[in-house]
Amino acid sequence: MPAHLLDDSLAEIEACLDAWGEPAYRARQVARWALREGVTSFDAMTDLPAALRARLAETYTLAPPAELARTAADDGLTTKVLLDLGGSEPGAPGFDAVEAVRMDYDPDRPPHAAGTRGRSTVCVSTQAGCAMGCVFCATGQQGFTRNLTTSEILAQVLHFTRGEAGSRVSNVVFMGMGEPLANYGPTLRAVRWLIDPHGLDMRARGVTISTVGLEAPIRRLAAEGLQVGLTVSLHAPDDGLRRRLIPTAGGVTIEGLLDASREYVERTGRRVTFAYALLEGVNDEPAQARRLAERVRGMRAHVNLIPYNPTAGEGMRRPSTARVRAFQRELQAAGVNATVRIERGVEIAAACGQLRTDVVAGGTTQRLSVVDSGTA
Ligand code: SAH
Ligand code: SF4
Repeated sequence: MPAHLLDDSLAEIEACLDAWGEPAYRARQVARWALREGVTSFDAMTDLPAALRARLAETYTLAPPAELARTAADDGLTTKVLLDLGGSEPGAPGFDAVEAVRMDYDPDRPPHAAGTRGRSTVCVSTQAGCAMGCVFCATGQQGFTRNLTTSEILAQVLHFTRGEAGSRVSNVVFMGMGEPLANYGPTLRAVRWLIDPHGLDMRARGVTISTVGLEAPIRRLAAEGLQVGLTVSLHAPDDGLRRRLIPTAGGVTIEGLLDASREYVERTGRRVTFAYALLEGVNDEPAQARRLAERVRGMRAHVNLIPYNPTAGEGMRRPSTARVRAFQRELQAAGVNATVRIERGVEIAAACGQLRTDVVAGGTTQRLSVVDSGTA
């Protein structure tokens, strides 16, 4: 089967077309068709010579994944799709599918979280499943199937930008299924296509990578010279508790993560966000907020609290709004900027990890989650 064009970088496509004796601008033309126009066949690239289109079609594919399911919520402002990545039938072993969510922020419909007015954000997955096994995460409880390729990651954005009216996407957050920094190469290549002026031409600041906290890849990302946002999932103020919530955290310490985050801030000039999933009676005590504040105070960072969404099974509870607010106030009183993540699509189970579960399990709908941050 031909390789997917968007698994290659622009430089690789340039090298290929150069070897075919094509002028230098051809690769940029092809990239614009594939990304900005979102075409799914080389025949649609009407300003390319017919012979070149035929040769491209022999060498590469642009086939998009099929949509298996779609749900909408928030009066159509939140849309979640399940995309077929091949493998077997839904529900059968080896079924490969991935979900992506688009959240629109209608400028005329308050309330707006800070900075979200008029935005359109797509949340993408980087792996089918996840190997990190976080105890509160539905994806983590499903286990790991495989890494997605660059074209499979980009397809989730293109699925929403292609062909629909008013479909400009301003932000992409890597907060879907999987751990982006455990699939570093394809994730970074996808980021570069998103922000390349000859690709989707998005602002790097509109792209956010969320990581469970892999220290070495955070440092590597810091050295890439990109202005992308970084969210580090912390979830606990001390290492013992953190290892219970993230069984694979192993030798990674909070101190090591904070140090890698400082390096990220220094090298990119960007503030880091610490995500903290709040679980009642586990990590939501005021004393834990004070301990967390001691550790992150003074950093160019802010804490984004995510009240637990009951998706991953029994035994964990979402704290009351009052407890969430109390935790937030402790952080703020200690001088740490803290927000509560707003929820979108509550009635459709838009949580990352849940739609796939629904299809596999024959359609049980659970509470949905959240993907963009701001002050609730
Ligand atoms: N693997 C990456 C990105 C995907 S998860 C990471 O862990 O950061 C995106 C965010 O959702 C993470 O901060 C994760 O901790 C959080 N999350 C996952 N399941 C959740 C749940 N059931 N309730 C609240 N937050 C959850
Ligand atoms: Fe993987 Fe992130 Fe879920 Fe943890 S929270 S299991 S790292 S997707």
